[in-house]
Amino acid sequence: MTADHTDYASTDGAPTDGAPTWGGQPFWGLGHDWDPDWLLTPGQKALRATLIDLCQQEMRANAERSDDELRFPRRNLELLGEHGFLSLTVPAEYGGLGGDHLTFAVACETIARYGCASTAMCFVMHTAAVQAIMLRPTRALVDTYIRTLNSGRIGTLSYSDPQTGGHFWYPISSGAERVDGSFRVRKKSSWTTSGGFADFYVVQTTSPDFTGYDDLSVFVVDAADVSAQPSLWDALGLRGNQSGAVEVAGAVVPADNLVGPVGDGAESNDEVVDPWFLTGSSAVWNGISMGAIDIAKRHTTGREHRDTGRRVCDYPTVQDYVGEAVIDTNASRLGVFSVAGALDRVTDGNRRVLTPGTTARAQYLSWCWQLKFTAAKNVTGVVDRMLHACGGSGYRRDLELERYLRDGKAGWVMGPSNEVLRQFVGRSVLLGPESVDYWNQTVDERSITNETAKLDPAAKRALAAKLLAQADEADEAGAARRRSRDRKVATA
Ligand SMILES: Cc1cc2nc3c(=O)[nH]c(=O)nc-3n(C[C@H](O)[C@H](O)[C@H](O)COP(=O)(O)OP(=O)(O)OC[C@H]3O[C@@H](n4cnc5c(N)ncnc54)[C@H](O)[C@@H]3O)c2cc1C
Repeated sequence: MTADHTDYASTDGAPTDGAPTWGGQPFWGLGHDWDPDWLLTPGQKALRATLIDLCQQEMRANAERSDDELRFPRRNLELLGEHGFLSLTVPAEYGGLGGDHLTFAVACETIARYGCASTAMCFVMHTAAVQAIMLRPTRALVDTYIRTLNSGRIGTLSYSDPQTGGHFWYPISSGAERVDGSFRVRKKSSWTTSGGFADFYVVQTTSPDFTGYDDLSVFVVDAADVSAQPSLWDALGLRGNQSGAVEVAGAVVPADNLVGPVGDGAESNDEVVDPWFLTGSSAVWNGISMGAIDIAKRHTTGREHRDTGRRVCDYPTVQDYVGEAVIDTNASRLGVFSVAGALDRVTDGNRRVLTPGTTARAQYLSWCWQLKFTAAKNVTGVVDRMLHACGGSGYRRDLELERYLRDGKAGWVMGPSNEVLRQFVGRSVLLGPESVDYWNQTVDERSITNETAKLDPAAKRALAAKLLAQADEADEAGAARRRSRDRKVATA
């Protein structure tokens, strides 16, 4: 697929599009009759076919090498670049393919299913970084970071902070200051996909003149200003991902590299980073699930027990495993495609340019949380069940299932983890959305009342004295900050 024959606009409503081919032969896994093809446009089906060919020709073999050797999937990303997919979601006027959210989800799922899950996750982070920039597309940002994507440049999101773990929206160890019309940016990130390999990093820091959470800002930082030690990366799965720690140690970045206004970080999170990341990564978990089912089909239909004359697929237990896995995974896929479609509708197919203060995708954030929870929970069970269906053969590396199993296990723990997500949803439902309290600012009066009721009078007085001293300290620190700010303004 090249930029000149994309058509992501309207679905042909066809329930299926025949069987996928694999090197000119019918694909050995499940056919498109098990894909929700009526939701896809001819352009999206063509994109999928192109990606399946690339997976068959090269990407799947490269996945094995990436996994064995902890090697960044550079060649696979180059292949995506050669076909214009590194700017899949960029509007055509900026050199992209003009793809929407659904097209992106199809691409992520297909790469993970037929090719390489590490590549798919690098692609998710790359596209989410591109979209974070495209939320506020200035000429300088577009010329430097967007129009150049077809030359194979890769971006990533560097958000997770070592001190706040999976609460990746809470960048305690970061900061930014104004210096002579530029910004000095400090960022420590505990995990960054493509860390040490990306050409540019979209990072979130506390804002210059930080006034308290949610005062966050977004910057693009070039690779030259980012230090990483990819050789330290080693993990259970997604081993090609190279998601190690990175640091920006006070790099001075041009004012042009601030994305949106100072303080735009929280809105950027809710409007682009989370919707794109959660939709794309959920599609990856679904792709891994389908890929594991494909392998189980190939193995269980091909292996026969000579004593009973039955194939493994003839056992009802194995049929149950596969049936349940397909049903659960397709429910999850329908969820992803449906929410991606909703994101498309509110953004005119990803063409709407939003001004600060106006959001569109953010209204679907709680749906994006639910998608990720469902897809990540599902993959963790599906890969286990497919291993059980394949028996000891599934445990061997040559069947490839164990790679899908290890890759799929990243879903549950990857931020926002499934523990965090079900808390978000449960709290929102029971206590209202404001109770989610991203930045740990809302006081839980019920807990305070309950705990202080256990104290005797002396302990209550001791606690009161401690709190008064803390309040005095906070007052003094606030006054000192105000004096320092006034001095800076007077000097300026
Ligand atoms: C393969 C992979 C790639 C990644 N790539 C990136 C990337 O490109 N960019 C990036 O910014 N980050 C990335 N991350 C980081 C990810 O988003 C999380 O920040 C990271 O997984 C958190 O790990 P942790 O050990 O700090 O977990 P912790 O946050 O310490 O969690 C430990 C446990 O505590 C639980 N927990 C934490 N908070 C709560 C809560 N509020 N309620 C209930 N339970 C809670 C968790 O669910 C978990 O069970 C990646 C992670 C993985 C696994």
